[in-house]
Amino acid sequence: AAARASYGKANPESQKIHTESLLTLPGGTTRNVVHFKPFPVILESGRGSYLTDVDDHTYLDLCGEYSAGMFGHSHPVITKAMHSAIDSGFALGGVNRFEGRLAKLFCDRFASIEKIRFSNSGTEANLTAIALVKAYTKRNTILVFKGGYHGGLATFSKDDKVTANSMNAPHNFIVAPYNDIQALEEIVAQHKDDLACIFLELMQGSSGCLPADIDFIKALRAKATEVGAVLMFDEVMTSRMSTGGLQKLIGVTPDMTTLGKYFAGGGQNFGAFGGKTEIMSIIEPGHPGGAYHSGTYNNNVTTMAAGVAVLEQVWTEQAASDLYNMGEWLQHELQRVSKEAGSTLKVTGVGSLMTLHFSSKEVRSAADVQASETTVRELFFFDMLKKGFYLAQRGMVSLMTVTTKEELETFVEAVRLFLVERKEFV
Ligand code: PLP
Repeated sequence: AAARASYGKANPESQKIHTESLLTLPGGTTRNVVHFKPFPVILESGRGSYLTDVDDHTYLDLCGEYSAGMFGHSHPVITKAMHSAIDSGFALGGVNRFEGRLAKLFCDRFASIEKIRFSNSGTEANLTAIALVKAYTKRNTILVFKGGYHGGLATFSKDDKVTANSMNAPHNFIVAPYNDIQALEEIVAQHKDDLACIFLELMQGSSGCLPADIDFIKALRAKATEVGAVLMFDEVMTSRMSTGGLQKLIGVTPDMTTLGKYFAGGGQNFGAFGGKTEIMSIIEPGHPGGAYHSGTYNNNVTTMAAGVAVLEQVWTEQAASDLYNMGEWLQHELQRVSKEAGSTLKVTGVGSLMTLHFSSKEVRSAADVQASETTVRELFFFDMLKKGFYLAQRGMVSLMTVTTKEELETFVEAVRLFLVERKEFV
């Protein structure tokens, strides 16, 4: 309560704007994930690795727009590409020169992607890809996993129930336990004749950066092949682990992959789904396969132009490995200060995506995250804001390529201080 009160006092302009927005926006925002109590901080601008709010506080941005803003704010190369597209007419209403070029860049990088289509978000890519796979297999059941997040319309709760949200998605989902090979075998045996797709996040991002076990991923690959289902990886968040996605590092190739977030530079809506030609072809105009895909903004020129600039100039092999290594280093440093302080802080994640949990036991599943110390997490969140570090309220850190090791060292020191100052809680 004291931390909330002190936050409230320090942010009068945010409070004022939020209070006004509440009159017309449910929750005062159009994104549930960015809402927090007593009121969310209202951001004014971003530059490089920093954010400024409407009360003139500056933060080191560790949230990285929930993994979409991976190159920092207004990256000059991406900004230039977008400006140039805008100056040439931003809604052309036909095929443009960028989309085929962008598609080729993806196909060259991802072993699993022979053909690709673009959409406006990760959610949209996922829902369209599922519809496509159903048409391709002529089956209806989609196997997903507890704690999985595939977008605002396809969220899978930590218990056995499909959440109200996912009821919006017109698909027949079965929710299986995560990282449980035995349960997988039983469920697949039960549904094999109607199983269209096995759909997995290689690391559950929104649920707390919980990596899937390699053996589990391999078992999914084998099972999908055995029963004629499509194996689809949701790499909307995890693709940043290498230029060919986390799948490249793990060495398991799915039949379909969905992407989103940072590929259009972070300032533009983006989603994509791609895979084997045999599957993707049924979306071709005039194909009798029963799948259809269109959308006014699927190929919008600013997104396409930003995407080409990202893949050709910014997101290089070197940038990908530097970011991954920086993330591994940060995870290691945070674990070190936790150990030295004898605290319950646990860090889960892969490379540049990680979540900080306060839990006395190991955190491996969404249920473990739910059981962790959420009051301390909130205290930590407000303490970090006060010290000038902006991270996702759920404790997720999503690194950006522009952030320096020296800046991250200041964060590690702030975390260390929190663990010392709040010893009685952590
Ligand atoms: N899939 C995963 C794994 C995600 O993390 C997200 C967003 O966080 C999505 C899908 C949805 O993407 P979008 O927010 O672009 O709809």
